[in-house]
Formats: sequence, C-alpha cells, structure tokens
Amino acid sequence: MEQLSAWLTGAETIELREAPVPQPGPGELLIRIGAAVTCGTDVKVYSRGGHPRMLEVPSPFGHEVAGTVIGCGAGIENWQEGDRVVVSNSASCGRCDFCARGSENLCTDLVYLNGAFSRYLLVPARFAERGVYRIPDQLGFAAAALSEPLACVLHGIEKLDPQPGECGVLFGAGPIGLLFTAVLSKRGLEVVVADPNEPRLELASSLGASGVLAVERGSPAAEKALSMSPQAGGFDYAIDATGSPAGWLDALASVRPGGRVSLFGGCAPGTAVELDSHRVHYEELTVMGAYHHRPADFSAALELLAAGELDTDVFLSSERPLEEIEAALGDMIARRAVKVVIRPHPRG
Ligand SMILES: [Zn+2]
Ligand SMILES: [Zn+2]
Repeated sequence: MEQLSAWLTGAETIELREAPVPQPGPGELLIRIGAAVTCGTDVKVYSRGGHPRMLEVPSPFGHEVAGTVIGCGAGIENWQEGDRVVVSNSASCGRCDFCARGSENLCTDLVYLNGAFSRYLLVPARFAERGVYRIPDQLGFAAAALSEPLACVLHGIEKLDPQPGECGVLFGAGPIGLLFTAVLSKRGLEVVVADPNEPRLELASSLGASGVLAVERGSPAAEKALSMSPQAGGFDYAIDATGSPAGWLDALASVRPGGRVSLFGGCAPGTAVELDSHRVHYEELTVMGAYHHRPADFSAALELLAAGELDTDVFLSSERPLEEIEAALGDMIARRAVKVVIRPHPRG
C-alpha cells in the first residue's frame, strides 16, 4: 500500500497526498500507523492555518499516533520490527540546560513531528532515540495515542500541584479539560467544570467533576463560578483549558487570595490579557503557564492508561478512515466528538 498523508496547506485546507512508502535511513524507524487521534490543538492549527511552534504550512498533519515498527534503519538497536509504539510529537536536544534539568518541554532546540494522519510515519533519528515509547500489551493503539494529551495534562497538574482538601475550577470541557477532570477526580481532588456545552458537562460529571457549571459562550463566567466555590473568596486554583483570553480572565478572576492559576490553553499569537496587578500582588496569586510535556510525563501517561483507570471510551467518540480527516475535524468543531480515532488502514 502506498503512503497516503493528510497535508495542511492553509487555514481549513487539507490535501491528501500519495507518495511511495518512505524508507528509514540510518537511525530512523518506519511505523505502520495503527491509529491516530484528533486533538483540540489540531482544530486550532487547522483553523489558524499553522502553529507558532509545531507546524508551518504546507506540512503533514496530526500528532497523536501509535503503530507498529515495520522498518529499522541502520544503527537501530532498541527497536525491532513488530514492536508496538507511540511516537511523541516532539524530541528535545538532550544537551541544553533545560534538558539537563528535566524541563525538556522548554528545550532550546525542541523539534516537532507531524504526520499522524498518514498510513506510515517515518520517525527521524532524534525521535527514534528519545521520543518513542513501547505500548503496554493490554493497551490498544487508539488508547495508547491518548498518551500525548494526557502527558500534557499530567505536566500541567504537576506544576499546579493541587492538594487534597482544595477545590479548583476548570474552564473548558474540551478533550484537555475532560482529561484534567478525569485525572483530578481519580486522585480524589475536587474540581468544578465550567463550559457552555451541556453534553460536555454531563461527560465531566461522569468523569467525576465535583460540580458543573453551564456558562454562556464568550461572556465572562467568573462571577457565576465564584457562586459555586465552597469557600469564601473563590477557588484554591483555577485552570484555563479554553485557550481563549476570556477563559484566561475567568481563571484569573476565580481564585481566592493565595490561589494558583494555570493558564494551560494557548491563545493565538499576539494575544494580550490584562492582569489585575493589585490582586496578583496583594492577594499573592500564582499565575503559571504550562506547555507541552516531557519524556517523564509521557511514560507516566502510558502507565496511567495501561492501569486501565481512565475511561478512554469517553474520549474516543468515533472512528473514521483517513480519507475523512476533514469530516473528523468538523465533528470536533461542532462538538459531536470529543476526539476522533483515525484508522488509516482498513481493518483486518
Ligand atoms: Zn494533542
Ligand atoms: Zn534541549
């Protein structure tokens, strides 16, 4: 079977391109993709026609991917044909001071890999060395591909460091917001989830949200959220998983003195958000970004998925063949699907 890849060529423009199946060069791996999964970031990148870090058009598209090694270039020692693997969408340099201190997500030379929405993926040497993870036997390809967004969420939670007895609020019940909800509630931590979409709030409840709040799209939601805070003055922590300035402002306005705010959702380049300096100073707010994941997060995510404690079916709403990638993104945009599994090869 020939290579078939979805290329992003501009805003809301995808081309399916055929090519010969690539052959792995020295240090490279060739993966036959078993499943790729659509992501909220894909939707952003698709509608914006690019991403300041991950991708410049024209480019192969998609970044949550699992499959089977079918070719090993010269010098590959750790992998062999038949290995089931997840390929990370970034690989750090392994040499800069950020890498040395375990902050590989801040690596000065972080390289990204796109092309999950393809039949085959050629894994560059740096990724073969530092960005490929073995899939535990009990885990299917689609569930394993969830390790990428889950790794991001685990990284965000580690930075936020929520404690038992605290109550947080989360804005945005997209795939990332729902993963946050699932992990926090599995850890016995309380979080109220705010979103305009009623079915999404039902999913948040089913995943263990301690409360849900229907908000109006585009209008400030902090005041409403505050009325649900169990303690005076607001929540102990707030998470924005909307990637919009409105979500950021809601998160900032929802915490009590001493509160922590994780601005997890990335806004479009050039976005500025006003910060109440008085509150940040006199109420000792901690405002933090959280970006991407590190190899340790990736391993932890795979372990968590293999433990079978997260209900992955909630996230993998439907399946489509590769040829229907634009329809899959449409399902995400219309919120008919949390995430869509792309199967590039006919099953069997
Ligand atoms: Zn993703
Ligand atoms: Zn580095």
